[in-house]
Amino acid sequence: MPSIFTKIIKGEIPCHRVWEDDRHFAFLDINPWTEGHTLVVPKKEHDYIFDMPDADYAALQSAAKKVAALLKSKLGCRRVCTCVIGYEVPHAHIHLLPTNATGDIRWLGQPPATSKPDLAKLAARIQG
Ligand code: 5GP
Repeated sequence: MPSIFTKIIKGEIPCHRVWEDDRHFAFLDINPWTEGHTLVVPKKEHDYIFDMPDADYAALQSAAKKVAALLKSKLGCRRVCTCVIGYEVPHAHIHLLPTNATGDIRWLGQPPATSKPDLAKLAARIQG
């Protein structure tokens, strides 16, 4: 059965896409920890990122680097932080978190932000 991210990539589930190339897809996280929280995903499904073949893993990191530069330039943040979790969705992905200070990052287990950002507006700001 295809993962939820494969359904998003195929357009079967809506998302706010910010970037893609032939092998990768980047879109805003539906439950953002910071403004512009983005997931970078390989179009080919791999359950666990660190089981990916080296070449595919390196290509994913390279895609994340491009998306991080896009987020930094469009959102004007100081740094884009990154992490890998993967417990919720078994389709390899890298979280990119635009930040201006360490305290901007909400870690797992913390309650969701009370105000929901307008993801459509944000995606339009980020897209090239
Ligand atoms: P992880 O697998 O790294 O623990 O978390 C998966 C991430 O995907 C979470 O941050 C969650 O908010 C995000 N996510 C899960 N389902 C969807 C979805 O349908 N759309 C979007 N945009 N993000 C999702």
